[in-house]
Amino acid sequence: MGIFRKKNQEPDNQSDDEFDEEEEQRPLILFQGATNGKNANIAAYARLAEAGLIPAKELVTDGVLRRAELVKLDVKGERALINFQIDGLNYKGHRLSKQHAAAITQMLKLLSGLDVKERAKPQRGGIRAEFEEKKYEVEVVTKPVGKGVERLQLNIKDLAISLETPDDLGFSAEFKGKVRSATESKGLVIACGPPGSGTTTTAMAMLRCIDGYVYSVFTIADMMGRDIANVVPFEVNEGDELPQTIARLVRNEADVVFIDPLRSPEMAKTVLELSRQVTFMAELNAKDSIHAIHQLIKASGDPEMVSERVNCIVTQKLVRKLCEGCKMAFRPNPKILEKVGLPVETRVLYHPPPKPTGDEEDEEVPEQCTECLGLGYRGRVGMYEFIEFTDELRAAIQQGSSANDLKAIVKKARMQTLQRDGIRLVGEGKTSLEELQRVFRSKK
Ligand SMILES: [Zn+2]
Repeated sequence: MGIFRKKNQEPDNQSDDEFDEEEEQRPLILFQGATNGKNANIAAYARLAEAGLIPAKELVTDGVLRRAELVKLDVKGERALINFQIDGLNYKGHRLSKQHAAAITQMLKLLSGLDVKERAKPQRGGIRAEFEEKKYEVEVVTKPVGKGVERLQLNIKDLAISLETPDDLGFSAEFKGKVRSATESKGLVIACGPPGSGTTTTAMAMLRCIDGYVYSVFTIADMMGRDIANVVPFEVNEGDELPQTIARLVRNEADVVFIDPLRSPEMAKTVLELSRQVTFMAELNAKDSIHAIHQLIKASGDPEMVSERVNCIVTQKLVRKLCEGCKMAFRPNPKILEKVGLPVETRVLYHPPPKPTGDEEDEEVPEQCTECLGLGYRGRVGMYEFIEFTDELRAAIQQGSSANDLKAIVKKARMQTLQRDGIRLVGEGKTSLEELQRVFRSKK
């Protein structure tokens, strides 16, 4: 039986109908070994394999076919519910019995080299997989929820999709140029965003924008296994505090230093002080640039230092891309164009196809799009905010201006805000106005 349904998918739309079991044999994912090298001894778990192997493959295959980045299996009472996260949105899958869910969980633990007998501690492993000649890595995460029951989470990574370079992330030539010039004078360059929003990836792509032939770029941060050609890892001496390390980096003629995220107010203050000597690039957990400015002021207690030492703040937020297979053009109302700030001469914008209402008996119901499976969107793209510290903005920060006053300055200077960059994507037909509204309404 399959979990995958060719049905219009609505986020969080619970559907209780039993589905048909008529489905014929379909191709299933191939599991190719645990990422930790501990290959499963399936023979020793023959009964588990009999109960769990095919359902486990079906679950992962469904995740891959639906392009889910995350699949969750939550046990509640005697039932378990599958949840798919696709491009950041949750979609409910069908329900399973508790036993069925346990067999899948145990099987995936076995295949990812985890301890099958251990149900009381959280575990994390991975499986290499292949489906239709494409390679995937499935991270298997289990968490005990009591009474020997575990919650299963699968993070599915399509290995063909690379999100590393500025081009992968959709940085425009103008944006790359701005990042480059912001690193040319000593100070602090900040990448901010909420946790789990890809800020680290953005910060590292910003590092790649710097010309390695002209500037010496060093890192003392955890690079998460990434090796960037123009960035040299620098060994921190045991027991050395940040000021000592920076002094050594200055002796090594460092221009730009990538450091760990500014997690504490003390660290933020120290980095602001040291940024007279080099250019720092760091992450900060803040929902947008104006919040980041206020966090830095609070951390340092010194608005003047913040205004002088910060070169720029970049914030990123993801928005879903309209599906190229089914997006529909429409002629926008000039009033709307004016309201959202698009040129009034814009002839065409796009929206996803309308969802079938179920009342289309007389009309022809369009075939579901095979590219997005009826979601109307496929993949995501970043919106980038680039707040440059102009003289006017610096003066306002020194005077302790409110968030609204700072926003007004940013707007007046026509800086690249998240909203403005999002509207650009709408104008280019990459996303829709309704998707933009959804993203800005969401708390995440
Ligand atoms: Zn489509």
